[in-house]
Amino acid sequence: MDRDRIKNIMQEQGILPQSRFGQNFLCDEKIIQSIVELCEIKKEDRVLEIGPGLGSLTFPLSELGCDLTCVEIDNGLAAYLSSHVTGAEIVNCDFLKYEAASCHDVVVSNIPYYVMTDIMKKLFGEFSDARKMVFMVEDEALARIDCSPATKQYGPLAILCALYGSYSFEFKVPHTAFVPQPNTTSAVISFTRCVTSDILSPEFVRFLNTCFSMRRKMLKKNLVSVASSDEITGAFGKFGISENVRAEELEPAQFAGLYRELMS
Ligand code: SAM
Repeated sequence: MDRDRIKNIMQEQGILPQSRFGQNFLCDEKIIQSIVELCEIKKEDRVLEIGPGLGSLTFPLSELGCDLTCVEIDNGLAAYLSSHVTGAEIVNCDFLKYEAASCHDVVVSNIPYYVMTDIMKKLFGEFSDARKMVFMVEDEALARIDCSPATKQYGPLAILCALYGSYSFEFKVPHTAFVPQPNTTSAVISFTRCVTSDILSPEFVRFLNTCFSMRRKMLKKNLVSVASSDEITGAFGKFGISENVRAEELEPAQFAGLYRELMS
């Protein structure tokens, strides 16, 4: 899918890119090919694509013979894809409201940047069975994905990423690789699931959100809405966590321990 092809489709179909949906369509065939290869898809895989747009990734993915489901919020784009892609199920809805009927092995998305954090939190909470996730994100979002405790960017998203599996920065993507061109540089990243990611669930995501609900307050204050003071003191004692700790100071594995102790 090159720039001319994207422009032709938009003209033929009367499609105007909607910035409110973060619509910047990928038009660099080398980059598209690299993203598809990073997914390491096998024929028997169930693959989920979020935000297929005009199909830059969808068309090559659909040629792999896998079981492909694509979730697209935009009615016009979903209608276009439904009538032009064979070998993929196109679901026309907001991914944040999407309820999957089955598990997926691979997740791939050129993520709409305006809703990146919510989409990634939902994926790690509800789709953590997937063995591989490959994303295009805004370059400046990398600091929130791969960061250490006690930094300004550290929060639920970084913790979920760390607990899901191994993270790999793959390559940068210039703004010239899109139609229309965004103002920022992008990056392709990938995650490979590890066994300890069994903790990940929608409840665990909610627990992390609670832990960080008042970021500057002590963690125990945030936790009183989900556990008694005695339970919190007991759990902190068990893991050698100071009474005065703030959420941003704990390692990802400590959140997993606290969650198991307090919530299950
Ligand atoms: N995958 C295509 C590509 O690489 O050219 C399009 C990527 S574009 C950056 C993001 C896509 O996500 C758009 O098609 C947009 O309509 C869709 N989208 C935005 N918000 C969404 C949501 N909440 N649920 C599902 N799709 C969404």
